Amino acid sequence: MPRRSLLALLVLAASGWGAAQTLPDVDAPVLRPHLDGHVCEVGEPPVARSAAEEARFAMRARYRTVLPRFLARVPDEPDAVLVMPVDGVRVAQVADTWGAPRFSRGHEGQDVFAPRGTPVRSATPGLVYRIDDLSLGGLSVTIVGGAGRRYFYTHFDAVPESLREGQRVEVGTVLGFVGTSGNAAGTPPHLHLGVYEGDEDPCAWNAIDPLPLLVDRD
Ligand SMILES: [Zn+2]
Repeated sequence: MPRRSLLALLVLAASGWGAAQTLPDVDAPVLRPHLDGHVCEVGEPPVARSAAEEARFAMRARYRTVLPRFLARVPDEPDAVLVMPVDGVRVAQVADTWGAPRFSRGHEGQDVFAPRGTPVRSATPGLVYRIDDLSLGGLSVTIVGGAGRRYFYTHFDAVPESLREGQRVEVGTVLGFVGTSGNAAGTPPHLHLGVYEGDEDPCAWNAIDPLPLLVDRD
C-alpha cells in the first residue's frame, strides 16, 4: 500500500535531517569530480509571507546544500530522450501546454492526463533528489539525471512506500501514482512534468520544455 509522503515528512521532522536523508551510494563512481564538494551559491533570500512559506524556503535551502553531491554522481551528458512516464499514454496524446498562462507565470512543464492511480515511471535514469509534499505543487518526486537536469513529477496521489531520497532509479522505476494533489485539486487527474537545468550555474533551475524530448515507451 503506497504511503503519502506527508508521513515521510513527519518522520523526517521527527528524526532530524541527517538521519532521514539517504545520500547516494558512496560506492557509486563520481562521474563529475569537479562538482564533488561544489557548493550551490545562495542568492538573495526570498521574502517569506507566512511561517509556512518560511519553513518551505528553509527546507529548500537544506536540499540545495546537498544538490552538488547528486550533481557529481550523474553523467556529463543529458539524456537524449524522455521515455513517456505515464502508463498507457502515447506522446501524441499530450496537448502542448508549455508556457500556457498559469497563475503569475507561464506553465513550466507539460501535463499528462490519465486515470487516478495510474503508475508514473521515471523517464530517465537518475537519482531521487527529493520526495516532498508542496503546498502548490502537491505530492512530488524530483529526479537528478545526466548533466544535472532535474525532472519534477507532481500532483501524485501517492508515492511507493519503498522509494527513498538518494536512491538510483532507471527508466521504468515507479515514482508515484497519478492524482490531483496541490493546485491540481478540482482538475482531472494528471501528472505535471517539469524539466529544469542550469545553464552556466549547475545549481540554477531554468525550465525547459519536456515535450520535444518525450518518446513512446515502445
Ligand atoms: Zn502542469
